[in-house]
Amino acid sequence: MAIERTFSIIKPDAVKKNAIGGVTAKLEEGGLRVIASRMVRLTEAQAKAFYAVHKDRPFYGDLVKFMTEGPVVVQVLEGENAILKNREIMGATNPEKADAGTIRKLFGTNIERNAVHGSDAPETAAQEIAFFFSGADLAALAR
Ligand code: ADP
Ligand code: MG
Repeated sequence: MAIERTFSIIKPDAVKKNAIGGVTAKLEEGGLRVIASRMVRLTEAQAKAFYAVHKDRPFYGDLVKFMTEGPVVVQVLEGENAILKNREIMGATNPEKADAGTIRKLFGTNIERNAVHGSDAPETAAQEIAFFFSGADLAALAR
Protein backbone atom coordinates (compact mmCIF):
# COMPACT_ATOMS: atom_id res chain seq x y z
CA MET A 1 0.00 0.00 0.00
CA ALA A 2 1.37 3.37 -0.98
CA ILE A 3 1.71 6.53 1.09
CA GLU A 4 -0.79 8.97 -0.41
CA ARG A 5 -1.88 12.54 0.13
CA THR A 6 -5.46 13.68 0.19
CA PHE A 7 -7.29 16.94 0.72
CA SER A 8 -9.76 17.70 3.51
CA ILE A 9 -11.98 20.63 4.45
CA ILE A 10 -13.44 21.07 7.92
CA LYS A 11 -16.65 22.79 6.80
CA PRO A 12 -18.25 25.90 8.37
CA ASP A 13 -20.75 23.87 10.44
CA ALA A 14 -17.99 21.90 12.20
CA VAL A 15 -15.88 25.03 12.75
CA LYS A 16 -18.96 26.72 14.25
CA LYS A 17 -19.49 23.71 16.55
CA ASN A 18 -15.94 24.18 17.88
CA ALA A 19 -15.06 20.77 16.45
CA ILE A 20 -11.78 21.50 14.61
CA GLY A 21 -9.96 19.52 17.29
CA GLY A 22 -12.57 16.75 17.41
CA VAL A 23 -12.47 16.25 13.65
CA THR A 24 -8.68 16.39 13.50
CA ALA A 25 -8.40 13.88 16.35
CA LYS A 26 -10.53 11.37 14.39
CA LEU A 27 -8.26 11.82 11.36
CA GLU A 28 -5.14 11.32 13.47
CA GLU A 29 -6.59 8.33 15.36
CA GLY A 30 -7.36 6.81 11.96
CA GLY A 31 -3.68 6.93 11.02
CA LEU A 32 -3.62 10.11 8.93
CA ARG A 33 -1.13 12.91 9.50
CA VAL A 34 -1.93 16.60 8.91
CA ILE A 35 0.98 17.88 6.80
CA ALA A 36 -0.53 21.28 5.93
CA SER A 37 -3.41 23.23 7.48
CA ARG A 38 -4.85 26.72 7.14
CA MET A 39 -8.06 28.47 8.19
CA VAL A 40 -9.70 30.39 5.35
CA ARG A 41 -12.99 32.07 4.54
CA LEU A 42 -13.90 30.95 1.02
CA THR A 43 -15.09 33.57 -1.43
CA GLU A 44 -18.15 32.80 -3.52
CA ALA A 45 -15.90 32.47 -6.58
CA GLN A 46 -13.63 29.98 -4.78
CA ALA A 47 -16.53 27.84 -3.52
CA LYS A 48 -18.14 27.83 -6.97
CA ALA A 49 -14.88 26.80 -8.62
CA PHE A 50 -14.06 24.17 -6.01
CA TYR A 51 -17.49 22.53 -6.40
CA ALA A 52 -17.78 23.14 -10.17
CA VAL A 53 -18.26 19.39 -10.71
CA HIS A 54 -21.68 19.80 -9.01
CA LYS A 55 -22.73 22.96 -10.92
CA ASP A 56 -25.75 21.31 -12.54
CA ARG A 57 -27.01 19.68 -9.32
CA PRO A 58 -30.04 21.21 -7.58
CA PHE A 59 -28.09 21.68 -4.33
CA TYR A 60 -25.18 23.65 -5.89
CA GLY A 61 -26.38 27.16 -4.98
CA ASP A 62 -27.14 26.21 -1.38
CA LEU A 63 -23.82 24.35 -1.10
CA VAL A 64 -21.88 27.44 -2.24
CA LYS A 65 -23.82 29.58 0.25
CA PHE A 66 -23.10 27.12 3.08
CA MET A 67 -19.39 26.81 2.27
CA THR A 68 -18.98 30.61 2.36
CA GLU A 69 -21.03 31.29 5.52
CA GLY A 70 -18.02 31.11 7.84
CA PRO A 71 -14.39 30.02 8.06
CA VAL A 72 -13.22 26.55 7.08
CA VAL A 73 -9.99 24.67 7.70
CA VAL A 74 -8.26 23.31 4.59
CA GLN A 75 -5.83 20.47 5.21
CA VAL A 76 -3.51 18.11 3.40
CA LEU A 77 -3.52 14.63 4.97
CA GLU A 78 -0.87 11.99 4.42
CA GLY A 79 -0.78 8.28 5.18
CA GLU A 80 -1.11 4.73 3.89
CA ASN A 81 -3.98 4.62 1.41
CA ALA A 82 -4.95 8.10 2.64
CA ILE A 83 -7.64 8.85 0.05
CA LEU A 84 -9.82 5.83 0.81
CA LYS A 85 -8.95 5.85 4.51
CA ASN A 86 -10.10 9.46 4.85
CA ARG A 87 -13.40 8.64 3.13
CA GLU A 88 -13.92 5.77 5.61
CA ILE A 89 -13.16 7.97 8.62
CA MET A 90 -15.51 10.67 7.22
CA GLY A 91 -18.50 8.34 6.74
CA ALA A 92 -21.37 8.56 4.25
CA THR A 93 -22.40 11.90 2.71
CA ASN A 94 -25.67 11.81 4.68
CA PRO A 95 -24.78 11.80 8.42
CA GLU A 96 -27.98 9.84 9.13
CA LYS A 97 -26.60 7.00 7.02
CA ALA A 98 -23.00 7.27 8.24
CA ASP A 99 -21.54 4.49 10.38
CA ALA A 100 -21.19 5.01 14.14
CA GLY A 101 -17.93 6.69 15.09
CA THR A 102 -17.42 8.41 11.75
CA ILE A 103 -16.81 12.17 11.58
CA ARG A 104 -20.07 12.85 9.78
CA LYS A 105 -22.05 10.76 12.29
CA LEU A 106 -20.39 12.55 15.20
CA PHE A 107 -20.30 16.11 13.89
CA GLY A 108 -22.60 16.36 10.83
CA THR A 109 -26.09 17.85 10.92
CA ASN A 110 -27.67 16.86 7.60
CA ILE A 111 -26.77 15.85 4.04
CA GLU A 112 -25.58 19.38 3.26
CA ARG A 113 -24.07 20.39 6.60
CA ASN A 114 -21.96 17.28 6.92
CA ALA A 115 -18.83 18.57 8.68
CA VAL A 116 -16.11 17.58 6.20
CA HIS A 117 -15.04 17.34 2.59
CA GLY A 118 -12.60 14.67 1.41
CA SER A 119 -11.14 13.98 -2.03
CA ASP A 120 -12.60 10.91 -3.72
CA ALA A 121 -9.75 9.79 -6.03
CA PRO A 122 -6.04 10.40 -6.75
CA GLU A 123 -6.82 12.88 -9.57
CA THR A 124 -9.21 14.97 -7.48
CA ALA A 125 -6.85 14.83 -4.48
CA ALA A 126 -4.03 16.31 -6.57
CA GLN A 127 -6.30 18.98 -8.08
CA GLU A 128 -7.83 19.94 -4.72
CA ILE A 129 -4.46 20.12 -2.93
CA ALA A 130 -3.16 22.39 -5.72
CA PHE A 131 -6.29 24.58 -5.44
CA PHE A 132 -5.26 25.64 -1.91
CA PHE A 133 -1.58 24.82 -1.41
CA SER A 134 1.50 25.54 -3.49
CA GLY A 135 4.24 23.01 -4.09
CA ALA A 136 6.53 25.35 -2.16
CA ASP A 137 4.25 25.19 0.93
CA LEU A 138 4.29 21.39 0.87
CA ALA A 139 8.01 21.10 0.21
CA ALA A 140 8.74 23.40 3.15
CA LEU A 141 6.60 21.22 5.41
CA ALA A 142 7.93 17.83 4.26
CA ARG A 143 9.44 15.71 6.99
P1 ADP B 1 -19.21 13.86 -0.69
O1 ADP B 1 -18.88 15.16 0.05
O2 ADP B 1 -19.56 12.74 0.27
O3 ADP B 1 -18.15 13.46 -1.68
P2 ADP B 1 -20.80 14.78 -2.95
O4 ADP B 1 -19.50 14.97 -3.68
O5 ADP B 1 -21.86 13.98 -3.61
O6 ADP B 1 -20.56 14.13 -1.51
O7 ADP B 1 -21.43 16.19 -2.62
C1 ADP B 1 -20.63 17.29 -2.24
C2 ADP B 1 -21.30 18.01 -1.09
O8 ADP B 1 -22.54 18.56 -1.54
C3 ADP B 1 -21.71 17.11 0.09
O9 ADP B 1 -20.63 16.85 0.99
C4 ADP B 1 -22.79 17.94 0.74
O10 ADP B 1 -22.26 19.03 1.51
C5 ADP B 1 -23.51 18.50 -0.48
N1 ADP B 1 -24.61 17.63 -0.93
C6 ADP B 1 -24.51 16.43 -1.57
N2 ADP B 1 -25.71 15.90 -1.84
C7 ADP B 1 -26.62 16.81 -1.37
C8 ADP B 1 -28.05 16.85 -1.34
N3 ADP B 1 -28.80 15.86 -1.85
N4 ADP B 1 -28.64 17.93 -0.76
C9 ADP B 1 -27.91 18.94 -0.25
N5 ADP B 1 -26.55 18.96 -0.24
C10 ADP B 1 -25.90 17.91 -0.79
MG1 MG C 1 -17.53 14.43 -3.41
